[in-house]
Amino acid sequence: NRQLVLAERPKGEPTNDTLNLIETEIPTAGDGQMLLRTTYLSLDPYMRGRMSDAPSYAAPVEIGGTMVGGTVAQVVTSNVEGFSEGDYVLSFNGWQDYALSDGTGVTNLGTSPEHPSWALGILGMPGFTAWAGLTRIGEPKAGETIVVAAATGPVGATVGQIGKLLGCRVVGVAGGAEKCDYAVNELGFDACLDHKADDFAEQLTAATPDGIDVYFENVGGKVLDAVIPQLNANARMPVCGLVSQYNATALPEGPDRMNWLMGQILRKKIKVQGFIIFDDFGHLYPEFAKEMSGWIEAGKIKYREEVIDGLENAPEAFVGLLRGENFGKRVIRVAQD
Ligand code: NDP
Repeated sequence: NRQLVLAERPKGEPTNDTLNLIETEIPTAGDGQMLLRTTYLSLDPYMRGRMSDAPSYAAPVEIGGTMVGGTVAQVVTSNVEGFSEGDYVLSFNGWQDYALSDGTGVTNLGTSPEHPSWALGILGMPGFTAWAGLTRIGEPKAGETIVVAAATGPVGATVGQIGKLLGCRVVGVAGGAEKCDYAVNELGFDACLDHKADDFAEQLTAATPDGIDVYFENVGGKVLDAVIPQLNANARMPVCGLVSQYNATALPEGPDRMNWLMGQILRKKIKVQGFIIFDDFGHLYPEFAKEMSGWIEAGKIKYREEVIDGLENAPEAFVGLLRGENFGKRVIRVAQD
């Protein structure tokens, strides 16, 4: 059983010393347990937080502990009611080949789901995050303008497409021309801007002539700086993530703009609300699953995935995810399905 364990807490970007690949015995399922073999491992930005022991909404991975992560796995042997050999499951095996489970928090996907890995993306946590954050906090109305960055990732791409289904103007922000072309031409965004452009802030102003009503916050940093002056009165800001800051070791240099920001929030009566998807919206999951499956079946929502083979490639692929090297939802194929 290959396992990627946390060797040290990274300072800044994770390095080759952050995780160790070790080999242990494949465990045996006891009474009330099943043995799961990981097929796909999801790579998600929140994992950077688990490598750190800074205070957070979830406990960090211990040094020497296996990195946590959502997985699609197959049941190898089962002593758990409702799960049989060969079933695909959505589970939380972490960065390893095999894991034992008593079935808690594990969803049976059946023996032949059409796209097993989609349970880690559009039909799972990231898709649900986009749907709940946008509709329940962003509350967009037809004709309003939505801005979302990381626009071709699983959260951003879904936010933008739902925004279009709701009749909004959607402006994406992404890293580079190829991603922006995809957002506009494949996903149907009205515009998409490259945050690496020198005149990004000017481009954003030009692309949002009626201001911004909903800023779905995925990245923070320069994008947030450019967005704030464009926000309209009564704008809403679901604060979903701040991926540009996850490797940061200090606050950015420069004047303290905390009170300027609060002034903007006050004068424009902006609603700013953070959320942690399953803590805050877990009860809405069935409603999401039904609506999203319907949209996918009807061809109304597109999904792009990037599959990388081999558990041993997960650490490098994860560092690349935070740098924006992924194009679509990044998953590791740990075993052939
Ligand atoms: P993505 O697959 O979109 O990957 C992250 C992307 O962030 C990169 O591909 C890159 O895209 C972009 N990025 C990285 N650095 C910067 C930067 N400096 N400026 C602008 N963009 C940058 O991730 P997800 O869709 O999985 O997640 C999106 C966000 O949602 C994350 O912040 C994540 O933490 C958050 N999240 C929050 C949840 C919650 O419960 N609150 C649940 C799930 C996700 P590009 O090349 O286009 O810049």
